[in-house]
Order: sequence, then C-alpha cells, then structure tokens
Amino acid sequence: MSTVRVRFAPSPTGYLHVGGLRTALYNYLFAKKHGGAFLLRIEDTDRTRLVEGAVENLIRTLGWAGLRFDEGPGAGGDRGPYVQSERLSLYRTYAEQLIRDGHAYYAFDTAEELELMKAEQERLKLTPKYDRRALKLSAAEVEAKLASGAPSVVRLRVPDATTVVIEDVVRGHVEFESAMIDDQVLLKSDGYPTYHLANVVDDHLMGITHVIRGEEWLSSTPKHVLLYRAFGWELPVFAHLPLLLNPDRSKLSKRQGDVAVEDYMRKGYLPEALLNFIAFLGWNPGDEREIFSLEELVREFTLERVGKSGAVFNIEKLDSVNKEYIKTASTARLTEEIRLRLTAHGMAVPPDHHIAGVIVLMKERVATLEEFVTGCGYLYADPVAYDEEASKKNWKPETGGWLRELLPLLPGADGFTASSLESIVKERATVIGVGAGKLIHPLRLAVSGTSKGPGLFEMMELLGRDACVRRIGRALAALG
Ligand code: GLU
Repeated sequence: MSTVRVRFAPSPTGYLHVGGLRTALYNYLFAKKHGGAFLLRIEDTDRTRLVEGAVENLIRTLGWAGLRFDEGPGAGGDRGPYVQSERLSLYRTYAEQLIRDGHAYYAFDTAEELELMKAEQERLKLTPKYDRRALKLSAAEVEAKLASGAPSVVRLRVPDATTVVIEDVVRGHVEFESAMIDDQVLLKSDGYPTYHLANVVDDHLMGITHVIRGEEWLSSTPKHVLLYRAFGWELPVFAHLPLLLNPDRSKLSKRQGDVAVEDYMRKGYLPEALLNFIAFLGWNPGDEREIFSLEELVREFTLERVGKSGAVFNIEKLDSVNKEYIKTASTARLTEEIRLRLTAHGMAVPPDHHIAGVIVLMKERVATLEEFVTGCGYLYADPVAYDEEASKKNWKPETGGWLRELLPLLPGADGFTASSLESIVKERATVIGVGAGKLIHPLRLAVSGTSKGPGLFEMMELLGRDACVRRIGRALAALG
C-alpha cells in the first residue's frame, strides 16, 4: 500500500473546536504511526462563514498542542496550495470534466424558484430534493444561457437506483440508496466550489489515503464516493469518528461548557494533558493505562480501537489528567507559566525563588495552571477580605487576645521556618490549655483570608516574618 497521507481540513470559522483537535490528533497519530504525512488544508470556500484571523489562530493553536503538520500553509509541501480559495481554477476544470462526461450538469434556477420547488415538495410530503428541471434544457438552451451570462451552478448527476456502499473502518458497512441523495451543487454561481467538490478533488490531488473525520460528515460521504467514481479515482479509506457528547449525552455544545481549545489553553491545561484526555474521547488502549505521552500515543494508536458510540467530554476527568501532568512538570516550566499568568492578571511578579516556593506548596493541590495564581492570590499579596463563614467559625472573642500574645513569641526572620513556627504555636496552645486548632485556624484566616490552602506553617515560612506579622496585625484590626 502507498505511504499513508492524511489531512486535517478545518474551515476557518473562528477557533479550533475540541472536536477539531481530536480529529487533528487522530490524523496526526495515524500518520506518525505509519511513517506517513500529516497535512493541514484550509477549507475556506464558504465565504459567508469566514472569520478574520481564524487561519492564523488555528495554526497557532495546533502549534501550542504540539501537532506539527508536514505539509500545509506555511509548512511547504509539493501538493499545494493548501488553502482552497487559492485553488479555484482547479475546481472549475474538474467540474467541467464532470459535465463533459455526463456526471454533472448546469442549472440556472433562481433562489425564488428553488424556494417554490421546496415548498411544493413539502406540501406533497416528498423528500426535499432538486427536481432536475435543468436536465430538461436542450444543449442549445444551456449554451445560450451560459453565453448570456445567466448565473449558473453545476450539479452532480446522482445515478438512478444504485446503492452506495461505504466500508468505514469505524462504522463498518454503511449503505445509502442513491434515490435519497440530492443532486448536490458542486460549483456555486460565485465560482466557488462547495465543500463536496473541493474536498474530493483535493483529497485526490493531495494523495490522501485515509479520510479520518467526525461522524457528522458520514452523510456527505456517499456524495463523495459518487464523485470518486465519476472521476474514476481510487477511493481513500474512510474512518468516521464518534460524536463528542455533553455529560447528559446531548451533542457537545457551548451551552454546557467550553468547546474552544483556546479556552482550555487560557484556563491552564497543559497541551500534553489536553491531548492525552482528548485521545481517549473515542479511543482506548484496551487496558487500564491512562497517562500517555504523544510518543506513546503514536505507538499505541490504531483506528481499529476507535469506538462507534459517542464519547462524553468529562471535565473532571480532564482535571485529573491535568493534575498528573502538573505534578511532573518542571519547576522552570511552571515558573514561566505562572509569571505569564500573573502579568496577564496585572499582578506583581515576585522573584523566582518565591514562585518556586508557591509551586512546592501548590503543585499537588491545583488542577490547572491558572489555579497557581487565582487559587492562591494570598501567596502573592495580602488578603483584602476574610472569608465570612470561616471568620464566624474560627474567630472567637478570645482569639484576638491569644494572637496578640503570640506575636512577640514568633521567631526572628532567620529562624522563621515551618518547624519552629509549628512548635511555638503548639506550645502556646498547650500553655493556654486549648487544642492547637484554636490558634491554627485563626492564624490561617489572618494570613490568607480563607480557611483552605496549603499547610499553614509552610505558607508562613514562604511569606516570611514581615508579611505574616503585618497580616496578623491587619486581621486583628479588622476582626477584633
Ligand atoms: N471542512 C470540513 C470541516 O470543517 C472538513 C470535513 C472533512 O474532513 O472532510 O470539518
């Protein structure tokens, strides 16, 4: 069999959808596994859906994820251009070839005429389909209309009474009756091809061996198969990936959570973690293992292990995978991430040794990079408020007095370590005759403003004597 060549063929409609990232990932894995090529092709023939900057955004996001394409815009390759709007003349040539060979025809219907036709079909409860009125035109009539410059489209002439069979790697044997297939428009009156024509022509010219894409394209596939047949071209292998679902098993939608890869990027999911999680949305290795690097995925991935049933996008699962990756990420990498995020939030960036201390305290506790910043703001700046519930519970009338007595006992800046703080606080509690919690809880509230967080004494050591004394003083002033 020829060398594997696969493509990710997004339409630049704004952002990379997580479903698109899954399609890109599976194509990438399949290509790398077989020593083949992974192409990026931009399908921008629907001019009404174009969004400024979308292509750059797509490329940047794929780059962030680490899915490098071998051929595509900006990457070179000898089957380009890889942007469909730069290939328009090709599609016209192929559309004309189909017309010559009797597999397609010109049609001149206006939008109003098509509306009327559709309304009439609905009234008669017929499947809405082009009624082929243009086929009644004589060759001379067609010539005359073309010569007069009347707007025209080119339509596929779907063969009568045949069954289109697709052997899909994921879906298995799928059949479509040609009677149910519309005479699809292939070339629009504005000269742009529709998705179907451009997709098939490009897959052929770019030597695509396997078409791996979302299930929502399965219903288009019989039209594509008819086009391959009409051109006399060899079919690629088809693999349609299962739908992505919300936890309630409805189709994954913006309404129930983020669907743009950028959102996950912004929230602080590591690209390896997101890819690891996404890889499992439709595929599994057949055993209990859950953490896979991209290289390991390349080794293990097979289309045969892609399932048919919808895959639930479970954010808790993503969080737990991300947690694992954060635990093993290097301090240098996390420091850089935290620095960028502090800046983005307009927060002062402390020296690296302080950030390193934050990482030690928080690494096992956060699910996202963003939580290193927004989940523990008190590690960077004095709290400006005190959790109300925690204050009610832990700050009693006698608390202020106890903390005032404790302040002069705190060690000097050099000895301000977690272990010395711990023994001083515990000793003090014994002297007062209360459990250590009676001092620890209000101290935590004073230092951090909340009742949750990393170990109190380790946190105090990181913040240092001056900050802790200042914070305790402020809490005493605020809470009494
Ligand atoms: N342009 C289509 C999309 O936006 C490509 C579908 C396909 O892979 O054939 O997903």
